[in-house]
Amino acid sequence: MEYTVQRTNRKTISLQIKSGTLTVRAPLNCTNEVVEAFVQSKKQWIVRQLANYSASQLDSSILQFKNIYLSGKLVQLQFKPNINSKLLDGVLQLNEKYKENPKPQLRKYLYKVAENLLFFECERVAKILSLQYKQVALSYARTKWGSCDNKQRILLNYRLVMLPRHLMLYVVVHELCHLVHHNHSSAFWTLLASICPQFKQYKKELKQWGQLNHIY
Ligand SMILES: [Zn+2]
Repeated sequence: MEYTVQRTNRKTISLQIKSGTLTVRAPLNCTNEVVEAFVQSKKQWIVRQLANYSASQLDSSILQFKNIYLSGKLVQLQFKPNINSKLLDGVLQLNEKYKENPKPQLRKYLYKVAENLLFFECERVAKILSLQYKQVALSYARTKWGSCDNKQRILLNYRLVMLPRHLMLYVVVHELCHLVHHNHSSAFWTLLASICPQFKQYKKELKQWGQLNHIY
């Protein structure tokens, strides 16, 4: 669990979660081991708070299928007779026969967008970085935004097309870096940082979008 420790002239340890970030306030003479043990003992509470935060960050209108996120922006959904799904003037139009249960249709739409956008971006970025993968495919994973196995095959979560562009690209770059380092070693993070210096911030932001994996 990631957190920052602030040591001040105080007697007890306290936790604060602000903007999805955990801060531990500890007495001056409190060791790292004691701080870590305290954090571990409150783990359940922390996880719950962070989950609430991530849920509250997303607009509730998406749960009612009034809007959907595309590239990090809220896009209105509109149901019309006799049409195929299409994005027109910043509104996503769906056939009204899907109004009762739009989820499968939205999933289909996102998947189609992902097939174009994610494959294109993966190839484009790989070229820039002079990296070569064997295959890229889309995934329906609910707990991962992407993966790269040791056979140089990349999987990208199709829901990435709902995220702001910089986060979608961060995941693409992250997986491409795994072509060089198949782990999260310090060499991996050094390589990633050389391409994407803001990666720590992006990792944090990415967590706030995790709820989308459970909606669609
Ligand atoms: Zn990774």
